[in-house]
Amino acid sequence: MLLQLRQQTPATELAALRLDLSAAGLSAAPVSFFAAPIWRLEPAADNLPTAAPGRAALDAILRRHPCVAAAFSGDFELASRPLRPDGTRVCVATPGGELAIGGDEMVVIAGPCSVESWEQIRDTAVAAAAAGARLLRGGAFKPRTSTYSFQGLGRQGLELLAAAGRHAGLGVVTEVMAPEDVSLVAGYADLLQVGARNMQNFPLLKRLGEQRKPVLLKRGAGASITEWLAAAEYLLARGNDQVVLCERGIRTFETYTRNTLDISAVAAAKELVHLPVLVDPSHATGRRSLIAAASRAAVAAGADGLCVEVHVRPEESISDREQAISPDMFAALMSSLRPLVAACGRSLAPASTRAAAPPPPAPARAPAPDLARDAAFARALAAPALP
Ligand code: PEP
Ligand code: MN
Repeated sequence: MLLQLRQQTPATELAALRLDLSAAGLSAAPVSFFAAPIWRLEPAADNLPTAAPGRAALDAILRRHPCVAAAFSGDFELASRPLRPDGTRVCVATPGGELAIGGDEMVVIAGPCSVESWEQIRDTAVAAAAAGARLLRGGAFKPRTSTYSFQGLGRQGLELLAAAGRHAGLGVVTEVMAPEDVSLVAGYADLLQVGARNMQNFPLLKRLGEQRKPVLLKRGAGASITEWLAAAEYLLARGNDQVVLCERGIRTFETYTRNTLDISAVAAAKELVHLPVLVDPSHATGRRSLIAAASRAAVAAGADGLCVEVHVRPEESISDREQAISPDMFAALMSSLRPLVAACGRSLAPASTRAAAPPPPAPARAPAPDLARDAAFARALAAPALP
């Protein structure tokens, strides 16, 4: 439970409240990331949760202390909208300066599903930046349905991604799948992605909550809205309020699209919690022809940004080929969104006229991914490569 305290409450009144709570077996810790004074109640260390006072007893204590303005409880109490009615601005440090997600600007993340080679990520990064993307994405640790599919370049992929981001002036976003990889990935990423398959990987969420880099939390394909928000709470409860939600489609009976974009979840999440919400139209539809329409829907629904898969040569994408769009398609998408974004009272970073710097040499010798094997595998299944 959270207690919202009145501003400028004298210390003596706070001490009296603390004393009453402690007598009832509760300890109160201030939550550092709210401007208003908020206390989080927990059973005192020497007390079992079952010995905590009942709701009626607690209410009686709160009634005796007028310095308590409001009390909140629930599975996503720290994320709940009333605590920050104007919303959270998540700050991402990028080579071009600090970027806010959740402000007036609709922030667009673009880049390939997987980092495949230096040339691929460098050229995609330059094209994405030129069209107005603010962050570069690219997976180095890939959650693949088949263990025989390309699993990502790992540490080398992180190095290539970070170097491409620096070259194009973009911050970078990449997925971390395991708690033990958090410090490695956080050494390269400006925004750490939790993929749909890991939304309820609680040890991973706990570790990410204990570090200070911002986190992009994708919704699980089979997760309800409240399960998704409760997963975000794992991060806030451990001290990290720099959390961006991402709706990426849910699994339904529909098969024409890869997933079903749950557009109402964008509005619902923004109503319930104070965290910014992005939409990933690429995984939501799985079809490059539908990405523009899904992006327009996201803007209209009030999303704070988009995460789009862009590949310098989409037909050569090792993973998620059917949903990869080319730099030209991405530039056209961004231009088509501009009037809509403006009509919704938001802004979009302008297309850049900055001349591309001469490309730096590859930062490390990355092994060529085994394209032949991946293609053979796909052919053997007589179907598109598995997601
Ligand atoms: C991805 O971003 O490439 C990805 C695997 O997304 P998701 O976790 O939403 O499936
Ligand atoms: Mn992908």
